[in-house]
Amino acid sequence: MLYDVAVVGSGFSAIAVTIHLLRLLPRSASTAVVGDDPGFGRGTAYRTEFYVHRLNVPAGRMSVFPEQPDDFVRWLEEHQRQTSADGFATRGDYGLYLRDRLASLLRDEDRRASFDFIKAKATNCIQCSDTGVVFHLDNGARLGARNVVLCLGVGNADLPLERGKIDAGAEKRIIRNPWRLSWLSKVGGGDRICILGSGLTMIDQVLALRVHGHRGLIRVLSRRGLLPRPHAPAGERSPPIEPELARSRDISGLLAGFRRQVGGGVDWRGLMDGLRPITQRLWQSLTQDQRARFLRHGLAWWNVHRHRIAAEVALRFDALRKDGIVAVHAGFLEAIEEDARGVSVSDRERQSGRHLSFNADWIVNCTGMERAGVAHSPLLKQMQRQGLITKDALGLGLSVDGDSRVLGGTGEPQPGLYAVSALTAGQFWEITAVPDIRVQAQTVASAIATTLLE
Ligand SMILES: Cc1cc2nc3c(=O)[nH]c(=O)nc-3n(C[C@H](O)[C@H](O)[C@H](O)COP(=O)(O)OP(=O)(O)OC[C@H]3O[C@@H](n4cnc5c(N)ncnc54)[C@H](O)[C@@H]3O)c2cc1C
Repeated sequence: MLYDVAVVGSGFSAIAVTIHLLRLLPRSASTAVVGDDPGFGRGTAYRTEFYVHRLNVPAGRMSVFPEQPDDFVRWLEEHQRQTSADGFATRGDYGLYLRDRLASLLRDEDRRASFDFIKAKATNCIQCSDTGVVFHLDNGARLGARNVVLCLGVGNADLPLERGKIDAGAEKRIIRNPWRLSWLSKVGGGDRICILGSGLTMIDQVLALRVHGHRGLIRVLSRRGLLPRPHAPAGERSPPIEPELARSRDISGLLAGFRRQVGGGVDWRGLMDGLRPITQRLWQSLTQDQRARFLRHGLAWWNVHRHRIAAEVALRFDALRKDGIVAVHAGFLEAIEEDARGVSVSDRERQSGRHLSFNADWIVNCTGMERAGVAHSPLLKQMQRQGLITKDALGLGLSVDGDSRVLGGTGEPQPGLYAVSALTAGQFWEITAVPDIRVQAQTVASAIATTLLE
């Protein structure tokens, strides 16, 4: 069967695109949603059930419908949750909200198009032409569709160390993907933990370890040792403030403008929030060189100011640092070797250049999102080999045009093939959080619906 649309993936992007297709497609259209995750829609971010895992965006900005910004807040009220529009709900609740909204749209069978949900992984693409795209699935079936939306996420970054510098015997002590939270059940209460990476993933894992009864030392090692900044407490938040962009045709100019404004007493968080609606445009106005420079020198700073944590999460984490339970180091990982009890970790301290080493029972990879184009996905690698897709110039993800249409080897859009979310960061940059992905999901769904109505 040739479907009108196939959505490939099973995280937030896939559920957001599906929800918008349900509202926009004509009744005659057929859609297949192909994903390998049993908790469809939750993906890496929203499958957690730990109450300490909070959203890092206030509830008032997390609706899946851009034109109904209070939809998630209404859901929280209906379900007697105590979170207000400027509070931070649990990520588990957000996953439930998405599934509720999907379920109520699916119930309206008289008005909606047909949707088949197929639990499988798309393994390779065997045709991509004007007549449609055909995939092999890992259940042995073939799936064809006139329009395809790739919602594959970007995967987990690898350890910042070549394989040759990791003892084979140490591998069993390394948690490469901490998002499968089952790893926590292997950890003893007093085990020594080394977390690589000091961003949001690290904070999540520290809090999960504590809830799980871990009471030992947690060492955090990252290149710069920078920690995510907190949101201001509710009631003390500045509204978004427009940044001075007049003379800022590049990142240095923008930063200079920021410093001037902050020096003049303007709240930096308000400025970051004021930048948000124009970030995509600003990114697109930069040359490839300027973008590359930003990634080399500014990314770590951008991440900690832009992707902030709830104030109450920050308080909990700070208390653990003050009590000596969590120690944060800035340094470069050099080797991981097996030792009698666990592993020995060697690093070079950032400030002094000294070589240090310490022992741990577990190494947890919290280096975050992969930003290596298509490396995480066998499907995308195969499509790249066939010339059906290309990596963007900076290697962040796929080359897409301004309408999220995937560009093939010749640089032309592949008919009916779209990508959403962080895979499209080369074109949009600011496309990793719900407020941006929901707009992209709606735009793509609307473009597809328009072609089917013609
Ligand atoms: C821990 C965490 C917390 C976050 N918190 C927030 C927040 O508070 N607010 C906010 O706005 N944003 C937040 N984000 C960012 C954002 O919401 C997510 O990055 C978003 O969920 C991305 O979803 P995705 O579907 O693109 O990717 P993923 O969640 O990675 O999902 C991709 C899915 O596709 C499936 N898949 C991959 N390949 C195939 C294939 N070949 N065939 C079929 N299926 C396949 C995978 O199994 C996976 O389930 C958070 C992100 C993380 C990781």
